[in-house]
Amino acid sequence: MNREQLRQEKQKQCDDYIAYLYGCIPNLEAIDKAIGQKNVAMIRSGILHKNKAQQSALQQEIEALMKERHALLMQYGVDETVYKPKWDCPLCEDRGYLADGTLCKCYQQERIQKIIEQSGMSAAMQQYRFENFYLDGFDKPEDIQKKVEWCKQFARQIENGTCNDSLFLRGDVGRGKTHLSSAIANAVLAGGKTVIYKRAADLFDMIRRYKYEESTQRWHEVLDQLISCDLLVIDDLGAERTTDFVTEQLVFLLEERNYRNKPWIINSNLKLSQIQDSYNTRVSDRIMDRATAILLERPNSYRKEQAEQRMKEL
Ligand SMILES: [Zn+2]
Repeated sequence: MNREQLRQEKQKQCDDYIAYLYGCIPNLEAIDKAIGQKNVAMIRSGILHKNKAQQSALQQEIEALMKERHALLMQYGVDETVYKPKWDCPLCEDRGYLADGTLCKCYQQERIQKIIEQSGMSAAMQQYRFENFYLDGFDKPEDIQKKVEWCKQFARQIENGTCNDSLFLRGDVGRGKTHLSSAIANAVLAGGKTVIYKRAADLFDMIRRYKYEESTQRWHEVLDQLISCDLLVIDDLGAERTTDFVTEQLVFLLEERNYRNKPWIINSNLKLSQIQDSYNTRVSDRIMDRATAILLERPNSYRKEQAEQRMKEL
């Protein structure tokens, strides 16, 4: 059901309940009818006659009827709020926009929720933030702190559409690449921008499936999202089986995004020279063309230490 259908449904539930009350509370229906008629008369008087005295008399009559109704409802232990549907968002009464035509906060929140769900990030990854990226255990924490600051700024620039950079995040397995790139993605998502976050193997599987098994239209929709989302994160590049198809698709994606000035992040435990060997120079060139490279180095696995930390906290 769309927003308007949901609203109508809620309105109907409310109307049905009032109709039910009419059957239980004598005179309630008559009072409501009288209030309705006087309201109409007041609007008419305001538009047609601009008769102030008549309007004020009507206003007093309406107030008296409302008082009467209030007392009657009290007698039956019914709250007057039953006359309004139980809106999820009282600000816009679930319309999604306000009287001045601007989008309501609830609509923006719903949109953000939707794009988070579509981003491909797991519930665990959605918890990775800059604030819970721990620097202990890195060889040079102050050096890592600078890199984290760079990532925060990178996220801010994507959020406000001024980003001319991309990120090549390198480090051995378990050094915090996924955490840091997720923190960037989460900050970007919170700003209402679109993110696609995929492990390289899954990304190329998905491309293959859509390109060869789905309709052309569906494939073009997916391709359009991959090229034009505000941030594309390719996690764990180098872990997938390298084929000509993969290389070709990777070059295409990076070229298209670079051309459109759309940022991306590549996480890998491969050095650029190894990427050149695994794929080809076109891939490594496209990365060098655009990206800032950040190396995450630490003697122990970040993931292992995080797990140990959690164990201590339990
Ligand atoms: Zn709202």
